[in-house]
Amino acid sequence: MGAKWGCGEFEGVTIWWGEARLLTYGLKVYVYGVDEVLIDAASWSLRRPFWRFFDKRLPKKVLLTHLHEDHCGNAGELAKRGVQILAPESAIKEARVEPRLPLYRRLIWGRRPAFEAAPLPGIVNTERHALRVVPVPGHTAGDVAFLEEKEGWLFTGDFFLTAKPRLIFRDEDLSVTISSIEDILRLPFRLILDAHEGPLQDGPALFQKKRDYLLELRDRVEALRKEGLSDIEIDRRLFPKKPLITRVSKGEWSSLHMVKTLR
Ligand SMILES: [Zn+2]
Repeated sequence: MGAKWGCGEFEGVTIWWGEARLLTYGLKVYVYGVDEVLIDAASWSLRRPFWRFFDKRLPKKVLLTHLHEDHCGNAGELAKRGVQILAPESAIKEARVEPRLPLYRRLIWGRRPAFEAAPLPGIVNTERHALRVVPVPGHTAGDVAFLEEKEGWLFTGDFFLTAKPRLIFRDEDLSVTISSIEDILRLPFRLILDAHEGPLQDGPALFQKKRDYLLELRDRVEALRKEGLSDIEIDRRLFPKKPLITRVSKGEWSSLHMVKTLR
């Protein structure tokens, strides 16, 4: 197999990344270590490089941003080794059952074994840092981010990903995303630590860009609705080119979902 992976340090944060592959797609997953705490736990498909690094650096706790399988595929094994798993309240029950994932997700991310998690408190104190748990619904209804105020770090899981999305996952609601971005822009932070893009400088400017793009898109969607177009027609007009992943995922990833949730 030999999955590509790497590790390093950035401003004192331990960074581990692995690349999962499906056909010509290569998707990176980042996991961050703050002192003895790990933020997210990568996918099952990346378990070999994950354990190659973390076997000898077992964290005390893992904080999960949300329950998608590319963020908690190794949570079950970590729990077995005595690591405490902390997850958003809304994810606790769901975590106890291994989901049946569609084939394309199993191929790229692998399984998401069941695990026991405890609910995240308001603040997680590590040896040298304090991570404030910030609810950021949007990507999923229960998403949280972790803010290290003193350093200006914001660990966002999948909440940011890109300033200009052209398709979203079916769990996302862009109207909710927009209001969470407004909340995020009131937070004292400068660096985004994204789960697929790595550390991103100028965090507030990136979130402003994303908000402005989504608001403009919402205006265009609303104008076309007023002209009497259906959401499907609006989607064809605004996003005429459909990426392969929309077909492969049977619409789980689609621009139509963007149009539908911009209200
Ligand atoms: Zn996700």
